[in-house]
Amino acid sequence: MNASKVAYVLDFDGTITERDITREMARHYGGKHYDECSAAYGRGEFGMKGWLARMSAHLPSDTAELLAFAGIRAGLRPGLKEFFISARAKGRPLYIASDGFGLYIEPILERHGCREYVSGIFCNETIAAGGRLETLTPHAHRSCPVCGNCKAALVIALREKGFRVLYVGDGFNDRFAAAYADGIYARDRLAEICTAAGLPFKRWDHFHDLLGDDQFAGEHGNHRFCDPQGMDGVDLRSDNSGGIQMKKIVSGVTIECVRGDIVAQPDLEAIVNAANAQLRSGGGVAGAIHRAAGPRLEEECRLLAPIKPGEAVISGGYNLPNRHVIHCLGPVYGRDRPEAALLANCYRNALRLAEENELESVGFPAISTGIFGYPVEEAAAVACRAIAETAPALEHVKTVRFVLFSESDLAVHRKALEKLE
Ligand code: ADP
Repeated sequence: MNASKVAYVLDFDGTITERDITREMARHYGGKHYDECSAAYGRGEFGMKGWLARMSAHLPSDTAELLAFAGIRAGLRPGLKEFFISARAKGRPLYIASDGFGLYIEPILERHGCREYVSGIFCNETIAAGGRLETLTPHAHRSCPVCGNCKAALVIALREKGFRVLYVGDGFNDRFAAAYADGIYARDRLAEICTAAGLPFKRWDHFHDLLGDDQFAGEHGNHRFCDPQGMDGVDLRSDNSGGIQMKKIVSGVTIECVRGDIVAQPDLEAIVNAANAQLRSGGGVAGAIHRAAGPRLEEECRLLAPIKPGEAVISGGYNLPNRHVIHCLGPVYGRDRPEAALLANCYRNALRLAEENELESVGFPAISTGIFGYPVEEAAAVACRAIAETAPALEHVKTVRFVLFSESDLAVHRKALEKLE
């Protein structure tokens, strides 16, 4: 293992911000329901998924009001930006993992000029649905009922990519991920838990405390720690498919749909980029992937570009939790013809590359449906058909996942997948 390859995973509430905004929101809007719900959670009657579902129902449906609520409580812990700058200077990717209401994380980071330093945000999604708020948990473990967001799965995915992971947190629900990390920076409740469990950690107050020597524990944590309620024996590595909204098996290949961010799929071996011809960064998917992967991706891409509509090339994943990125150039709707054949070629060629590289799992965004203007219903039908037609030839690829950014794109892809013969 390359000893210099280090990644940070940071909790958000109480770690990046001084206050726990999710708790304050739930208490403010939930009143006595907050006390009852938190007491039941504390007694183990349900896990964070249950807590989030119950408390989301008490939030106002106006997300602007919630963002304003979060904004005035969004004081950052001292030294954060210096720490981010120093991590970047050392070439260390930073990930945020949060099990709260996810909606305010990105706006707060943007407001403080910190978003650009973060490779990936693994958080729940609090969205307005049918006149009320709902919190989706796309990073939950499928069978473990304890957390809404399996932060441990992110730590494990990064370790499997050869990173030594330093975990930074403060709270009760950081305990599992911390136990899997190579080094722990803990304060408050997390420090108490580590002390009680005999887990080595470094105490921190503010981010200046993280600027000095690294604090590696030597041995990484043990599985049993992730077992407060009889979950022993759950293999997080092979079972991190929480949040799957629909799946269908076609010729032995599982095709799934999830709502989420393409750069936050740590259990996939490869993700697909809806690239531009020059394979540069930009807006949409390409921007998100290049930001998360870091500048070495662009360096490699320079050697692979340009590509034509329908073509695909493969590169390393760099700071992404995935081993590879497969870059496809989708057709621009109304310009690159015949559109459907070119779009189908993207999916076929991407799967062929995954197969040649003996990859087991691949995630696709909805190629061409953003700035390239392909109507999403038409694109989803083409994509599903192309995958289904390619499936019989796949020996290594076992999982193909559509990762859709919006609820409506998810619904459209679910329907297209249901229609597949
Ligand atoms: P194209 O240029 O091929 O149209 P875009 O990147 O503009 O590609 O968008 C493709 C689709 O991916 C759009 O539906 C867009 O909403 C969605 N999208 C944008 N960013 C992400 C992301 N980070 N993860 C998943 N999907 C995304």
